Amino acid sequence: MTSKKKHIQSGKDEVPTMKGIRGQVLTFKADPFFHDEKDCYDFYPDGLVAVRDGKILDVGHFEETIRKHPGLTVTDTYEDCVIMPGFVDCHLHYVQSPMIGSYGDTLLNWLNTYTFPTEAKFKDKSFADMTAKMFFRQILSQGTTTANVFATTFAESVDAFFEESERYGTRMISGKVLQDRNLPDQLRDRSAEESVMASESLMTKWHGRGRQMYAVVPRFAPTSTDAQLRLAGELYRSHLDEGVYMHTHLDEAENEIEWVASLFPEAMSYTDVYRRFGLLGPRSVMAHCCLMEEAEWQMLHDHGCGVAHCPSSNLFLGDGQFKFWEAKDPARPCRTGIGTDVGGGTNFSVLRQLGEAYKVGMLQSQSLSALKGFYMATRGGAATLRLEDRIGSISPGNEADMAVIDLRPTEFAEWRLRFSESIFDKLFVLQTLGLDNTVKATYVGGRKVYDRDRDERFSYADKR
Ligand SMILES: [Zn+2]
Repeated sequence: MTSKKKHIQSGKDEVPTMKGIRGQVLTFKADPFFHDEKDCYDFYPDGLVAVRDGKILDVGHFEETIRKHPGLTVTDTYEDCVIMPGFVDCHLHYVQSPMIGSYGDTLLNWLNTYTFPTEAKFKDKSFADMTAKMFFRQILSQGTTTANVFATTFAESVDAFFEESERYGTRMISGKVLQDRNLPDQLRDRSAEESVMASESLMTKWHGRGRQMYAVVPRFAPTSTDAQLRLAGELYRSHLDEGVYMHTHLDEAENEIEWVASLFPEAMSYTDVYRRFGLLGPRSVMAHCCLMEEAEWQMLHDHGCGVAHCPSSNLFLGDGQFKFWEAKDPARPCRTGIGTDVGGGTNFSVLRQLGEAYKVGMLQSQSLSALKGFYMATRGGAATLRLEDRIGSISPGNEADMAVIDLRPTEFAEWRLRFSESIFDKLFVLQTLGLDNTVKATYVGGRKVYDRDRDERFSYADKR
């Protein structure tokens, strides 16, 4: 944030230069899939997060930390709450918010019946604005502070998204969806060249503007021609060093994989289609990856790609189930985060996804601990997006994006948690109960943009 912007904010919205947030504090520092669990997190039963200029200045035990910072004002104190890094949602579609929860059968039929007609409405900027506004209120009220988000074909859908993100000051990733075949006329790009040029001009407009980041987004292989995939690959690779992403779907359903094989007979696998067009790289994020061959995992690992586990979508669409133990195989691990995959997923909550991730694992007798789950939901998600040096943990120098989890969101939850001892036992219960109001507050760049118990629950960072 520039100093000029700070002068614009005034009155009751003014943030002290240095402030403290007190409560239980949990943060992650290493990947529990590969390190001793006790070395992977810090937990302070009475902790303090010191924030200055939108960044974490310090974190630690309250008494120790406050002594180190004379002049620090404790602005917020939370009883029976855990302050943790804001959640990172590695894959979802804001443009599907208007059709979440629609009845369906298979992925491809569901797309044709509900998704495509809904996305076609985003040519209208006012429809896009209205949806973006509602979408941000949903994710912020669930503690999500960074997300990797599909828009749709139209520039209006991208502008509406980033404009709303800018108002909150959130770090977000999105981009125009590239799709020039096998979908309805009103959603289809007219030419591969023009579509990729449109994507590039949106990239120029948005990438690196404040906290906004751009992704090259071919929807999935079947809805792009060879020409579009090739040009998308060229665009991605030529801007990779500037931190531009590639975001798409991979290996979600059996009939999808068969379709890809028939459209790209020369490719060794679905993953190989993306490789051939230069779409695999360290900032490529692949959603789903449910039905992967070993060679495909190896290929993603070799290219440094991230993957998004979208468990409620796996269960809702009933197509494939993600195997976290395959993704995190120490022989060729892939960076792995959690995605709500709205609207294939059934809610906007990363916390609730962890409850579903546990069930998806148990269908194959693999249990996912709360520590591993919450790691993937925060620091692991940040690593999937190659942002672990900026977000995903409460550590000095990182951007001060945090979620405050209420350990007594309802009368029953409060009573139930009396019978749990450790913080991870309690968090596991909360992810399993999946209550809608578990997040008490959400901070973005050190500013409280959501407060469950305030009259005006949401507040823009930028009040212009
Ligand atoms: Zn998706």
